[in-house]
Parts: sequence; C-alpha cells; structure tokens
Amino acid sequence: MNRKTDVVIAGTGAAGLFAALNLPQEKEIIMITKSDLRSSDSYLAQGGICVLRDEEDYDSYFEDTMRAGHYENRRESVDIMLKNSREIIDDLVGCGVEFSSENGEFLYTREGAHSRPRILYHEDITGQEITEKLIAQVERRSNVRIYEYMTMTDILMEQGECTGIVVRDRKGDSFCIYAKDTILATGGIGGKYQHSTNFPHLTGDSVEIAERHGIRLENLDYVQIHPTTLYSEKAGRRFLISESVRGEGAVLYDKHGKRFTDELKPRDVVTRAIREQMKKDGTDYVWLSMEYIDREKILSHFPNIYQHCLEEGYDVTKEWIPVVPAQHYFMGGVWADSDGRTSAGHLYAVGETSCNGVHGANRLASNSLLEALVFSKRAAKHISRDTL
Ligand SMILES: Cc1cc2nc3c(=O)[nH]c(=O)nc-3n(C[C@H](O)[C@H](O)[C@H](O)COP(=O)(O)OP(=O)(O)OC[C@H]3O[C@@H](n4cnc5c(N)ncnc54)[C@H](O)[C@@H]3O)c2cc1C
Repeated sequence: MNRKTDVVIAGTGAAGLFAALNLPQEKEIIMITKSDLRSSDSYLAQGGICVLRDEEDYDSYFEDTMRAGHYENRRESVDIMLKNSREIIDDLVGCGVEFSSENGEFLYTREGAHSRPRILYHEDITGQEITEKLIAQVERRSNVRIYEYMTMTDILMEQGECTGIVVRDRKGDSFCIYAKDTILATGGIGGKYQHSTNFPHLTGDSVEIAERHGIRLENLDYVQIHPTTLYSEKAGRRFLISESVRGEGAVLYDKHGKRFTDELKPRDVVTRAIREQMKKDGTDYVWLSMEYIDREKILSHFPNIYQHCLEEGYDVTKEWIPVVPAQHYFMGGVWADSDGRTSAGHLYAVGETSCNGVHGANRLASNSLLEALVFSKRAAKHISRDTL
C-alpha cells in the first residue's frame, strides 16, 4: 500500500539516523533499511572518529586529509568538516555516547597518515557505541517510523524533482513512499566485491538508481582497499584489523619475518606495499605482529579484535596473524553539495553513498563517521530551512 510522509530516509546507518535526529520533530519521517536495523557498516566501525583537537590542530588535520586524498578533495567540504567536528562530538556525547577517557579527559588514538593522535574511540567498537546510542534516540521519537527488510528499488521523479521512493518489502510486494524530501543514506558498495569488510547487502543501490535517472555522480573509480583484514579461506565479510593497531605499534612482516614498509603511510600506499610483497613472496597474505604493544593495552583497547582472532585460532598477544587487503570504503558516489543536495530537487545524499568531496581520491582513516554525521546534520538543517 502506498504511503505519504514529509521525509523518507533510505538507510539506518549513522548518516540516516543522525539526519532523522536533526530534522524537526513536527515532520513525519519514514526510515527504511534493506536488512535489520543494526546491520550497517556504521555498526562495524572499530578505530574511532576524528576530531579537531584544538585551533592549532587545524592546519595539520587539514593537510593530513588533503595529502591522504591526493589533493583531489573539495577544500570547502574539508573545512566544513573540521570546523564542525567538535560540535558533532558534543552532540554525540549529548546522545549518551561514551568515548574512552581517563580522569575525565578524552583519550585520543592515532591511525595511519595522521600526524598526531586526534581520534576518539570506544574500545575497538566505536561504531557500535555510536550507532546504538543514535538508535536509542531515534526510537524515542514519535515522528519517526522505521521499517526493516524494506529495500529501495527506485526513486520517483517529476520534472527534475524527487517525490519519493519505490520500495520492496520482505514479502516481495512493491509500493511507493511519497515524500516532500528524500534522503539517500544507503552506505557503500562492498557487497559487489568478493573480499570486502562491508556487509554483503551494501551494493551501491543509490548510485545505480541515481545513474538511471541521470543524477550527477562523482569519482566512481575511487574505491579504498583496507590493507589489513584477517586472512581467511572462508567466504563472506572480511574481519578488519583496525589501522589504530598499527598506530599503536603493530608491524608488518614478510614471509621471512622482515619488515617491508612504513606501516603508518596512507592506506593506498600500505596496500600497494603488501600486494607487491605477496607477489614477491608468492603468498596469499603477509603477517601482522602486535609484539610491540603491551598485553594490557591490547586487551583494553582492542578487546573485540583480540576475541575475534582468538575465535579464529590466533592469540594476538603471543603470535602473528595473517592479513590481506580487502575492499573497504567508497570515496565516490552520488554527487552532493555541502548541504547534501544532489543534482535533483528535494533529493539529498549523505554518508558513504554520497560524494561531497571530503575524501578526494583516498579517505583518511576515521574521517568517514565524522563526515557522515557532519553532512547528514547539514542536510537535515537544509530540509528544515527549505520548508519553514
Ligand atoms: C569494518 C569497518 C570498520 C570501519 N571503521 C571505521 C572507523 O573506525 N572510523 C570511521 O570513521 N569509519 C569506519 N568505517 C567506515 C564507516 O563505518 C562507514 O563509512 C560509515 O559508517 C557509513 O555510514 P552510512 O550511514 O553512510 O552507511 P551504513 O552505516 O553502511 O548504512 C547503510 C544503510 O543503508 C541500508 N541500505 C542499503 N541499501 C539499501 C536499499 N536499497 N534500501 C534500503 N536500505 C538500504 C543498509 O541496510 C544500512 O542500514 C568502517 C567500515 C567498516 C566496514
């Protein structure tokens, strides 16, 4: 049965949830997700979320983001993200998100290509902590209805303006959700790859739908490969070994137990070095060793990685683990301006599905959760302004 609402949001990851929370409560909102509410890449984020430490950090953080992005980033978007980062962290704390801290002060960690520690984290399950708290807030809103196992299969367009979406429910029935504004927040494209850290149901649906309607896309060939996922012969999603493990001192070894690269270079550089080494060695993986990180630090900062590796038969406090690069993040997507607006009227794109130019050709570690939150909030504010 067709439905009508003020705003429809496709996707219940951090971007979709935060957009819903930043829309006025007078608006009726429908959120849909292709799977269950918690099966989003946002939930999987391990390393953390970047934040501008202080005013002195601006130039260095800006430069780190640009250098990682091969200077193809949109400077305006990077500037907006950095300047809004502290406000976003305050918002998250206001929603109940707890970041690791000591004596009332946040602890910051570092990942590859960051020139200083500026990443807030919650153990190694930052994404779960953030997403759970956002879900709790959204569930309290009486103006938001969430439908699980409902897939957006198309958008409705009338004279260049989006008027809603077409969906298919779990029984296979299709219907329309008419909306004054539509937000695409359907995440990445990892489901299209054999080896990916993403959920398999994330298959770039918004990008395909947008292309069908001639909506502007950008940088479709900019796909980030994560250098270190746990090697496995089993099919399915690859388990990420967060970059902050290397940030805290883990090193990479070739088959002879020799280091072959600087582990803290940007992801694309480390990935290339690993692939070349695997080719040289004739192996399907290289080794990652945490021998230089204290056992206590491993157990307190990386309990999830420790536990998962243990279940796979590796005790990371005692032995090296085999790691291999896998598809991880999509820098391209549906073109969006700094308010999340696409080239079609009343159609917004936020989070990994969008391309607002923050990441350029390559994303700096832990910039994506921040980018998703900053720009989904802006899109929500824009929708509010537009319809006041
Ligand atoms: C293992 C892992 C670790 C990561 N670690 C970090 C980190 O430490 N720091 C960081 O900043 N980033 C990290 N990232 C990246 C980050 O998590 C994502 O880029 C970000 O969370 C994307 O948020 P999103 O809301 O755009 O998409 P997602 O959180 O992926 O949500 C997408 C949503 O869209 C829904 N959907 C998809 N297609 C459809 C459709 N056709 N119809 C309806 N619904 C649909 C999905 O069901 C889901 O609800 C990590 C990613 C992975 C995979």
